[in-house]
Amino acid sequence: MMKAKTQVILYSKFLFFLISFFWITPSNSQNEVYTSDDSLADTTFVNLKDYSKDFVYDMKYATEDNFLKAKVYDCAECFLRLKTVKALVEANKDFIKKGYKIKLYDCYRPLSIQKKMWEIVSNPEYVADPKKGSIHNRGGAVDISIVDAKGKEVDMGTPFDFFGIQASHNYTKLSKEVISNRKFLKKIMIKNGFNFFESEWWHYNLKTGLKDKVANQKWECD
Ligand SMILES: [Zn+2]
Repeated sequence: MMKAKTQVILYSKFLFFLISFFWITPSNSQNEVYTSDDSLADTTFVNLKDYSKDFVYDMKYATEDNFLKAKVYDCAECFLRLKTVKALVEANKDFIKKGYKIKLYDCYRPLSIQKKMWEIVSNPEYVADPKKGSIHNRGGAVDISIVDAKGKEVDMGTPFDFFGIQASHNYTKLSKEVISNRKFLKKIMIKNGFNFFESEWWHYNLKTGLKDKVANQKWECD
């Protein structure tokens, strides 16, 4: 009697194992792009280009074409925490389905770069105080716009890093087209786990990235 019961338990355990095996396998294969990183923690810093080639790069701080008038990055790479990359790739897929692509202005910003920026412009209205750090220093934020199928930037009403009320989501004295473009960007980003800043149409940060530590991760330039 006891033996039969043990056999039933063993058999049901085996069945459970079989079922879970077949359940787990197909769901993993859907995320093929991440399989090489199964061992990586979601908070690991990674290079976006290793996960997708579908982004347009316009990394303003790797040039002098920014409000600082200074090149503060040695090269134009987009590093972020793995979870931010995953969410951003998913958001980009949504844009691609509609005929658009994400264009990147800024991603993770090492603390040393934040300090450099603060030395150039020590005004908390324009640059986050490195003592506090920003979500960009935590690897959870991106500054972005979108481009159409021809690579033309969508009209968002102001350039990136425009310091004025016109850059705000609340500002309504804009063309219908601009308002609808900003709404489109916001809708897709929110759907994919991001939050927005009321005052900057280009800024989005991963909701789950707020508690990550400020970091001073370095990367090599080719
Ligand atoms: Zn930002």
